[in-house]
Amino acid sequence: MVACTACGTKNRVPVAAQGHPRCASCKQALPWLVDAGDRTFDEAVDTSLLVVLDLWAPWCGPCRMIAPILEKVATEYAGRVKVVKVNVDDNPDVSYQFKVQSIPLVVLLKDGKSVETLMGAQSPQAYRQKIDAALG
Ligand SMILES: [Zn+2]
Repeated sequence: MVACTACGTKNRVPVAAQGHPRCASCKQALPWLVDAGDRTFDEAVDTSLLVVLDLWAPWCGPCRMIAPILEKVATEYAGRVKVVKVNVDDNPDVSYQFKVQSIPLVVLLKDGKSVETLMGAQSPQAYRQKIDAALG
């Protein structure tokens, strides 16, 4: 459940959808942050929005450091960006697809294609810069 930043209404946000999720009561764009895995990955990244793919694992300290940064990104860029989190330990196919050797690994995807890769934990500004550039 995601609370609308405009009116506070709690909304259910789907893993995949046409367009992007909006608040049921005020229609404000909602932060879109989902957990996906091997089975749901293709539908999760099938979106017209810029995908910020977060490849992480629970034991990874730097991954935990950037988690709140990416949550903020989902809020700041609501309606333009979709954050998709994949636990690489549980999802070997996605991990293989992105040749994950170290985490955190953040990949920006446009129409399913990788346009930027950010390795390691970076500053909020670094993520914003790359996202702004990818959004054009
Ligand atoms: Zn609302």
